[in-house]
Amino acid sequence: MNDFVIPAPPVPTIPTTDGSLFPVRRVYCIGRNFAAHAVEMGHDPDRELPFFFQKNPDNLDASGTFPYPPHSRDVHHEVELLVALKSGGSEIPVEKALDQVWGYGVALDMTRRDLQGEAKRAGRPWEIGKAFERSGPVGPLMPVAQSGHPEQGRIELRVNDELAQEGDLNQMIWKVPEMISYLSEYFVLAAGDVILAGTPAGVGPIRRGDRMRASIEGLGDLAVSVV
Ligand code: MN
Repeated sequence: MNDFVIPAPPVPTIPTTDGSLFPVRRVYCIGRNFAAHAVEMGHDPDRELPFFFQKNPDNLDASGTFPYPPHSRDVHHEVELLVALKSGGSEIPVEKALDQVWGYGVALDMTRRDLQGEAKRAGRPWEIGKAFERSGPVGPLMPVAQSGHPEQGRIELRVNDELAQEGDLNQMIWKVPEMISYLSEYFVLAAGDVILAGTPAGVGPIRRGDRMRASIEGLGDLAVSVV
């Protein structure tokens, strides 16, 4: 018999709109997937191959509060479509990619922009800027039966009721099936994996006391208070 030598950590989960829990295995995030955001970050918006980084599964947080993290004075919001997989595999063709999707949700890719910037300049990995505690606020996941596969629709984020970010899902450079197919060439995807599909233009800093409200047409709202 093989007992755990320490208590097994809890399985990270995201609540679903029907009151169940989606267990999370891995979190992949795509960078610069909206041309206008690539431009605001100083990059060429041409369709280059997508690139990905990761957050930790337990960075996802459905509590509705975001504690301002330590060691940063420039924490930014990034509103994103979240894609949750019910199955996976390797070398998934684009035409089969949507068959792997369980559902969709609204998420924030909170970023310590100052630390990410230092990492970029030094050629270091991004985790210190991206994969910190509670850096992935999430709303409830909606099953595909309810949401369909959204290819268009307004995506926006308001801070204290003021519009900060806006775009349309149809502006994503790499579409959801292409992201899944591409990722599956490099990683073995599996049930429980989630993908954050990139942010539209308008990223900016938040402060303690701010109220963020993210929304994606057809998927609902995500309200998060910065504490
Ligand atoms: Mn992002």
